[in-house]
Amino acid sequence: MKILVLNCGSSSLKYQLFDMDHEDVLAKGLVERIGIEGSRLKQEVGESEWETQTEIPDHKKAVALVFAALTDAEHGVIADMDEIDAIGHRVVHGGEAFTESTLIDTKVMAAIEKYAVFSPLHNPANLQGIVAAREALPGKPNVAVFDTAFHQTMPERNFLYALPYEYYKEHGIRRYGFHGTSHNFIAHRAAELLGKPLEELNIISCHLGNGSSVTAIKNGKSYLTSMGQTPLAGVPMGTRTGDIDPAVVLFLIQNLGMSAEEVDTLLNKKSGVYGISGKSSDFRDLDEAAQAGDARSQLALDVFYSRVRETIGAYAVELGRVDAITFTGGIGENGPENREGICEGLEIIGAKLDKEINNQRKPKEKKISTEDSKVAIWVIPTNEELMIARDTKRLAEA
Ligand code: ADP
Repeated sequence: MKILVLNCGSSSLKYQLFDMDHEDVLAKGLVERIGIEGSRLKQEVGESEWETQTEIPDHKKAVALVFAALTDAEHGVIADMDEIDAIGHRVVHGGEAFTESTLIDTKVMAAIEKYAVFSPLHNPANLQGIVAAREALPGKPNVAVFDTAFHQTMPERNFLYALPYEYYKEHGIRRYGFHGTSHNFIAHRAAELLGKPLEELNIISCHLGNGSSVTAIKNGKSYLTSMGQTPLAGVPMGTRTGDIDPAVVLFLIQNLGMSAEEVDTLLNKKSGVYGISGKSSDFRDLDEAAQAGDARSQLALDVFYSRVRETIGAYAVELGRVDAITFTGGIGENGPENREGICEGLEIIGAKLDKEINNQRKPKEKKISTEDSKVAIWVIPTNEELMIARDTKRLAEA
């Protein structure tokens, strides 16, 4: 069975074609600068890369190009689009309507449109990808896999904000959480690695990338997570603030005369470790600058480490028992010095880092705690696309 996974961003489209018989990636690619001058498609098949530049005004054209690339006589991997059995779509916000992945029909599409109010950049792009795929391959099943769905198991006391209750009931204002596909993948893999049934697994999953979130997973299910109604909440990120006193927003509007749009840009695009360092949102740059003695880059890293550690500590208490702390995402998988910075002091909750193993580049997936550590620490590479392909296969077959 061949499954195409589409991840549509506001101006990009990432895709992977899987042969699910052995979960092999046949091809993967990226369409960039959709609707912007200089748009292009890059495709990788095994070791070989291919790039083609052409005008791509919208997602409809982008999806058409993906099909053309996959069936290209020279660079493609399939002879005919009909070989694709189903399409899986990453959808950012599913609100309270979706507790798991679902086959897409017009009702589902209407719900995705409804939740665009909470995810104005992503949900409309996700929807455009769905419309284009349905048009291009009529009759083939399309499946939506939501970033929010995994977190729908959070108890009310963990998702409710301390606003008047009507704001939740009438407007849906609450913590939803994101990166659910990744945290779910990590939970399944951690259960395998620790040799524990998923239903008995308690872990703290740290997904640290451009966007970062920490999730307490209790008995295999999301129990508490750091992102909120939107992916702006929680720990500081590349350019996002994470949690701040909500009254800061009022100060920016009332005392500095900023508009809602300016505040939005400030909190989402100019803050985080980029805002503190004044240098970069990329942790590789910050690691390098800090090592060369740049104090503000070190400060940005320290703020990040402290807030992630604070979250881990709080979640350990909420869970009561922690089997493992797991690291994934661009930083979690590739930044040993960043993991060391976060783990400093975690001995208090029984988690002891083995610095030597932590520093070894390979293998990527490994246990990085000491033998006598009560709480295991693991690096587990995430694979959201594979998770989407697995759900799509399951629902398409059913
Ligand atoms: P996204 O959230 O967009 O999926 P990723 O999970 O790919 O992002 O993470 C991207 C980030 O990972 C980069 O911005 C960079 O900060 C970080 N990163 C990548 N490689 C390294 C590395 N070797 N050391 C530290 N950080 C890294």
